Amino acid sequence: MNTKKRIYLLIILITVILTFLCGCNKKESSNNNTVVTYERNSYSKNGMIIYEGGLLAYYDYKTGERSVICSRPECTHQKYNSQTNPDPSCAAVPPKQTIFEAAVIINDYLYMFVLPSEINKMDIYKSDLDGENRIKVGQVNCGGIADKAIVCENFFIFTGKELTKKDNEDELSVSTFQVKYFTGILDINTLELFHIESYEKHRMSQNFYVYNNILHYYYMDEDVYEIRRVNLSDITVLEPLSLPMKNEQEKAYCVMDKGYMYYIKDDLIQSSADIRRIDLMTLEDEVFISGIEIQDGTLIGISDKYFFICNNESNIPDEEKWKFIIYDSDEKTIDIYDMSYSGVQTRLATHLINLNGEYILLYKYIEGNMHASYRYMKIESLINKSYDFVDTDVIY
Ligand SMILES: [Zn+2]
Repeated sequence: MNTKKRIYLLIILITVILTFLCGCNKKESSNNNTVVTYERNSYSKNGMIIYEGGLLAYYDYKTGERSVICSRPECTHQKYNSQTNPDPSCAAVPPKQTIFEAAVIINDYLYMFVLPSEINKMDIYKSDLDGENRIKVGQVNCGGIADKAIVCENFFIFTGKELTKKDNEDELSVSTFQVKYFTGILDINTLELFHIESYEKHRMSQNFYVYNNILHYYYMDEDVYEIRRVNLSDITVLEPLSLPMKNEQEKAYCVMDKGYMYYIKDDLIQSSADIRRIDLMTLEDEVFISGIEIQDGTLIGISDKYFFICNNESNIPDEEKWKFIIYDSDEKTIDIYDMSYSGVQTRLATHLINLNGEYILLYKYIEGNMHASYRYMKIESLINKSYDFVDTDVIY
């Protein structure tokens, strides 16, 4: 596998939920709504909604406390079961005979996206935050949500799935359908769904980012690597931005933050690297930090003054020795991020979410353990190898 492909594969592995909660930046206004969903769970500033295979529960990061999204007195919160509980009375159980896709909080309501049995249809339910007063508000043409979405203002932005008939195939054959993908922008107030474009392959690191009411996202297809843009005020597609070069051979992976697109540019002669940034409005490209002593580094995330970088220490091609670095742009210090002191594997612990520039949420990876678990801690604590964290084990 060539280096470029390898890097992108790695990025896909480690950035699944790296899109930031501040990925919805309106100038000088904070947005409490912004939520990222990944694999049916949704993550917001203070807690996450986890789909526990039939039941919705909210987990608070700071306390690790779990509360089922149901406030019915004496409810024992039983999931649907065709034999033992065919008619669930719990508010946290999604509507019967539907496939659950996502649940997010928008403007203090809980919205649930589910698939009924009808093909390429998605139902939208709205309820109070405790699951009460649930009503079906509408249906849109969509065959499902692919792994990641964000909420920004009144928009639910996601990668949609669509089942399409394959051409030149036997009409009666079972396998005449294939999944296609599109970038979906759903206005939650009008329930109008815009299909921006259709593509055959879906890469996970879409990384939706809204700045100045313009949606930006990664588009990767064969040899096309670019940032596509949509103006959300009138849903018009703007010219895409091409990705800058990391060195002479490969394109840089960029992280969007506070109106800029940041990336690492290697200085092969000095064996160091610069962090550069492109202004998303003026497209001006400038050096942000120069001469960081790292080699073959890829920027994977930004949280306020911290830059998360992974780099390949190995000089042997195809040998992967990835190291995770936190660069403090104020102090100009490099710290290696390694959770192994706490007995947790670091390999997938980089599934982090930038919460507010101070805290992050890590995904704890324990081999052989089917249960997801998370670690909430200050970035400072992570750097200082502190045991000051909150672990949350999710029940499925
Ligand atoms: Zn209940």
